[in-house]
Amino acid sequence: MAARAAWAGATYDGRVSDPRKRVLLAKPRGYCAGVDRAVQTVEEALKLYGAPVYVRKQIVHNKHVVNTLEGLGAIFVEENEEVPEGSTVVFSAHGVAPEVHEQAKARNLKAIDATCPLVTKVHHEAKRFAKDDYDILLIGHEGHEEVIGTSGEAPAHIQLVDGPDSVDSVVVRDPSKVVWLSQTTLSVDETMETVARLKTRLPLLQSPPSDDICYATSNRQHVVKEIAPECDVVIVVGSTNSSNSVRLVEVALSAGARAGHLVDYASEIQDEWLEGATTVGVSSGASVPEDLVMEVLGHLATRGFGEVTEFTTAEERLTFSLPQELRRDMKKAQAAKA
Ligand code: SF4
Repeated sequence: MAARAAWAGATYDGRVSDPRKRVLLAKPRGYCAGVDRAVQTVEEALKLYGAPVYVRKQIVHNKHVVNTLEGLGAIFVEENEEVPEGSTVVFSAHGVAPEVHEQAKARNLKAIDATCPLVTKVHHEAKRFAKDDYDILLIGHEGHEEVIGTSGEAPAHIQLVDGPDSVDSVVVRDPSKVVWLSQTTLSVDETMETVARLKTRLPLLQSPPSDDICYATSNRQHVVKEIAPECDVVIVVGSTNSSNSVRLVEVALSAGARAGHLVDYASEIQDEWLEGATTVGVSSGASVPEDLVMEVLGHLATRGFGEVTEFTTAEERLTFSLPQELRRDMKKAQAAKA
């Protein structure tokens, strides 16, 4: 059940809030278990092996996180070829195709796979259905790293369906042996619309054994949907290449917010967005550290939006352990010290 609570963490900057102005702060927001694990993986790898540690692609899609890790000694690259032979490379939370593991082996790289376990679950589903010779319709955004990684598990069996408008171009071998899977960070509503359209063409289409859109994506969308009708503007903290952050702005707008904006930093908030507004909704994508949200609240407080009510629709307690290859090395290092 949704709960509202006056929020004790708001920054008080000495100014008196305008009593008509308020912030509705969405919860859950920010870091999910997969992002937390991926960021910790790079931090722990830096401590254990020393800088530099190479990271293939942005570890998570957030500018601030990437800049911070770069400051600690991580070097972000696009491909394994850019990593010097014999070095340590971390694969990002979005997952990689099997060939990326093979390339790493060929270059004698020490690979640490920070793929979110919920993305790995979709990889396993893809492999299983491909083994049973299904046509797999992967709903997702063309070019997204996660989609490239999942497709790489069974390229001959997977075709991408990029939203409801792509449904008409789907071609399958046997309409009785087709399953849909999805990227983990899509809009829940749009995905259901895509599936409904697919089912009008393919009535025997099978669904994934469990939801592919992850708990963090759907929880963040759900709470934004709840607050949006009360908001003149919704500000989502997140980067433009973060699928789940971009979806939050779309969800806010389609659920009734009069305006929605995505910002990496509080300094990007334009005063004109707040003109005439009395309620501002605030949320953040799954790759966004909480201190960036605090900065947004601080910024809003200076514009008279000092009253913050946190609106909660779910409590999240999921955590994932670090990649086993890293845990193994951490254990060895501890044993060597003892
Ligand atoms: S958004 Fe979901 S799938 Fe992506 S890292 Fe977070 S928990 Fe994993």
